Amino acid sequence: MTTESKPTPATDEAAITARMIIGGESVDAADGQTFDVVNPATGRTIATAPLGGREDVDRAVEAARKAFADRKGWATWAAGKRGRSLSKLADLIKKNSEELASLESHNVGKPITGSRGEVIGASLVFDYYAGAANKLYGQTIPVSKPGLDLTLREPIGVVGLIVPWNFPILMASWKVAPALAAGNTAILKPASYTPMTAIRLGELALEAGIPAGVLNIVTGPGGTAGASIAAHDGIGKVAFTGETTTGQEIMRLASGNVKKISLELGGKSPNIVFADADLEKFAKEAPYSVFDNAGQDCCARSRILVERSAHERVLELFVEATRNVKVGDPADDATEVGTLVSAKQRDRVKDYIEIGLGEGATIVVGGTEPDDPALADGAYLLPTVFDGVSNDMRIAKEEIFGPVVSIIPFDTEEEALQLANSTPYGLSGSIWSRDIGKALRAAKALQAGVISVNSNSSVHTEAPFGGYKMSGIGRELGMSALDLYTETKNVFIDIS
Ligand code: NAD
Repeated sequence: MTTESKPTPATDEAAITARMIIGGESVDAADGQTFDVVNPATGRTIATAPLGGREDVDRAVEAARKAFADRKGWATWAAGKRGRSLSKLADLIKKNSEELASLESHNVGKPITGSRGEVIGASLVFDYYAGAANKLYGQTIPVSKPGLDLTLREPIGVVGLIVPWNFPILMASWKVAPALAAGNTAILKPASYTPMTAIRLGELALEAGIPAGVLNIVTGPGGTAGASIAAHDGIGKVAFTGETTTGQEIMRLASGNVKKISLELGGKSPNIVFADADLEKFAKEAPYSVFDNAGQDCCARSRILVERSAHERVLELFVEATRNVKVGDPADDATEVGTLVSAKQRDRVKDYIEIGLGEGATIVVGGTEPDDPALADGAYLLPTVFDGVSNDMRIAKEEIFGPVVSIIPFDTEEEALQLANSTPYGLSGSIWSRDIGKALRAAKALQAGVISVNSNSSVHTEAPFGGYKMSGIGRELGMSALDLYTETKNVFIDIS
């Protein structure tokens, strides 16, 4: 970390002075402005970071364009050579994983065990795309004219990567790794709440031998730095993860030069529980599908649709499992749920709890902040279960992005699917049943991009990830992500 006063990075002992990375240099914002980065578990400032704006985005675009145009540069390297650099970066992430995990925990308020998993997950993503770089094939196509028709997969150029605060380094890896593997140069903008690991990633990329200007890190607010990236004529593609409304704004901004866009947006995902399911397994696993990361997960299964005959049993088991979720200090290895990202986000979720009560739903567990005085300064909220919910209540329709779940009964398979699909979102969902035919029918009928059966797992580095409907455009992860960062060029050679 680029620091001025710091005994140990990633602690609250002394605030770090963080800098952006543009053209391989650690730099302040052009106008010298900064913003405070706060630890949501203590409310204390852990760093100051540059408040980047349009001028800084211009500088980063210039550096990235220069790196892309370099006749011996990144885009011209043999794909395997690019892959080896990404592999070195993966190794450096692993080597520095404790520091990165600590940074992430202090910045996001998430439990240290979760942060460790996230950092290792990011290194695996770099490993995957390190191997994928030289497996990005074109095709030969039997066209009707006599000749050879083939396709080339080419990088787009400079790409803008805008990521949210809930899984900062992981979301960055999902974009940076395939973009760079395909030969693009990039500008990464972390969310303003959580710039720390993105900056460190930029530093490690340089250490891995990725040339200056290939990965630039610009910190700053969405409305200025983010919007400048989305609108910039020198950028050929923007990849975004965040709220659906922000995604809509990015589509508008990106239309000026008809940028390629990929969007990973919000969700209101269902856990559909049929009465014939292994209810004990469900109750053991499902709390983490909605309370993990304090519910700030686009795939959070925030609606439990349960067959009416199993409603009472599921409620009993799920509530018991929820009571056992350990909420506490993110630095404690035993903690399962830490704070929300900010007091503002916690208050937003508390408003939804009031809305749910006002709509007539009942809280069966949670609904308040923990009463432990040691947690009084943090943005904590207990895992909260609402029963007596109908699918048309706001708590069942809107993305709360906090540790809140609604239990909604259904009578038939058809009704379960109708309820599940009655949302503008379509990111993920799970189906619990011992009847494989029923589970498969439901998996096919669910309008969502990422489905699991008798499991809540959503993310596999090797498999496509993305949303139907207003949950997004495009598929990240797996080989599909390379489609998001390449142009396909068709070449016909006359051999008549
Ligand atoms: P957000 O939309 O507020 O911000 C995301 C990023 O966009 C940040 O870097 C922000 O600074 C930037 N931004 C904000 N306004 C902008 C603008 N006008 N132009 C350009 N950039 C702008 O989202 P968030 O609150 O950081 O993250 C939470 C949201 O992200 C939730 O809705 C969640 O579902 C979604 N999310 C989706 C996925 C997915 O893969 N589908 C994954 C994680 C999070």
